[in-house]
Amino acid sequence: MQPIRIAILGVGKIARDQHIPAILANPGFQLLAAASRHAAVASVANFPTIEAMLAATPDIDAVAICTPPAHHYAATKLALANGKHVLLEKPPCTTLAQFDSMVMLAKAAGRTLYQTWHSRHALGVAPAARLLHERRLRRVHVTWKEDVRRWHPGQAWIWQPGGFGVLDAGINALSILTQLIDEPIFAKSARLLVPSNCDTPIAAEIELVGDSGLEITAGLDFRHTGTQTWDIDLTTDTGPMKLSAGGGLLTVGDERVAPDPAGLASEYGSIYRRFAELIATGQTEADARPLRLVADIRLVARHIAIEPFDPAPG
Ligand code: NAP
Repeated sequence: MQPIRIAILGVGKIARDQHIPAILANPGFQLLAAASRHAAVASVANFPTIEAMLAATPDIDAVAICTPPAHHYAATKLALANGKHVLLEKPPCTTLAQFDSMVMLAKAAGRTLYQTWHSRHALGVAPAARLLHERRLRRVHVTWKEDVRRWHPGQAWIWQPGGFGVLDAGINALSILTQLIDEPIFAKSARLLVPSNCDTPIAAEIELVGDSGLEITAGLDFRHTGTQTWDIDLTTDTGPMKLSAGGGLLTVGDERVAPDPAGLASEYGSIYRRFAELIATGQTEADARPLRLVADIRLVARHIAIEPFDPAPG
């Protein structure tokens, strides 16, 4: 079978760290081109814009969109209109109306839209979901604390409208929760701490509630310089379970069930295998629930202004 000829839009941190290595490691794909204003990928055709890339390389089958979320909708629309399959980074876009429109555009174009949630591919998530089918959840707590200077170096977009702030990371936890918890989840309350020089929150305390009354709380913080923590503590009727390392490690009681030494690399390997499957079977995969929760959190939140944030390493 011919490999899927793919191009990358937005050669930044995640494209370099994960997408390019995952594509190069998968014989089902051939990296043909890249579009980025300030960066280039070795050994492929490079263009400053997606428009120039689509015009010059009509034989591309698919585009992986790795730009900040405020640019996802326009790029997805353009790629689909040019007959390309689309793999879309999270967060998928900045509004729910854009999300619905993208899914309709993919259907009308007869192309695959794979709207990814990379954390759902972490190796602990599927076994946790299987175990939860046999248990009753009593309580859930999310601790998502990381150093924004390390994971989003020099990224001004994350602090601008449409940039999500700490919810850019927190949406990963929400993507796992919506996969694990088999009932509607509602936003109840939130305190969002917003630096006075930013438009998006740097930290958040969030209360969610399941349709059955299940209590879910979350503490998110982008100012955390100690041990980087991406944990979900699940209290069940038969004892505690814990997803840590962003979903890569599952501990049930004292037993480690799913250790994931490869971390994000195994998530992106799995994402590209799934993309090939979806293209081969003519399907679109998209799930708005994590984005809807973020939107609802913003609707119920108190926004608290705090001291300005200095993005330079302190
Ligand atoms: P990034 O390092 O800022 O890279 C994004 C690239 O998009 C930029 O380097 C830039 O390349 C291009 N771009 C095009 N238009 C832009 C604009 N108006 N403003 C800023 N950049 C623009 O960001 P990233 O960390 O790779 O994140 C990109 C997406 O991946 C986000 O949706 C993020 O949530 C997701 N993600 C990030 C991580 C992570 O660890 N960082 C992990 C998983 C997912 P040019 O300047 O060359 O055009």
